[in-house]
Amino acid sequence: MRFVVVAGLAACQLDECRLREWALMEQHPEAVDERTSRRMRNVRRSGSDAELRLRRELHRSGLRYQVDFRGLPGSPDVAFTRAKIAVFVDGCFWHRCPVHGSQPKTNEIWWRRKLDANVERDRRKDAELEGLGWLPVHVWEHEDPAEAASLIYELWLTRRDSESW
Ligand SMILES: [Zn+2]
Repeated sequence: MRFVVVAGLAACQLDECRLREWALMEQHPEAVDERTSRRMRNVRRSGSDAELRLRRELHRSGLRYQVDFRGLPGSPDVAFTRAKIAVFVDGCFWHRCPVHGSQPKTNEIWWRRKLDANVERDRRKDAELEGLGWLPVHVWEHEDPAEAASLIYELWLTRRDSESW
């Protein structure tokens, strides 16, 4: 594999995991225009904020969980090991939210492939999780964290005693 540092992205606040995925891509845009670069910075920042807000709400409702659980397909952002619930907080840009998903006009083909690959990988990881008896749950970064947390709490109640670990 060839590591490529894409111009304009190295200084971004992308989390290192996604930056690595990015860098590993064989094909990459020669450059990213400033507007796209700015949007990605904003998306990533709000993405991780969304994750922190959700975690805070989950914690407030009394749930305890593992963060960035590496032992599972997709390394879920939040994992409930007893209930086997794997939660991902998906950025609207990176995971093609139907409401806010957009595609940069610069390097359009590359972006389409990249974002399609993200969505495809999400589905594949979900299938792998289900194969292991886990329930994958995806929360959009634009969703209300309190609502999402209460939904997850309901799921947790129904699943916490269903399986032993
Ligand atoms: Zn969205």
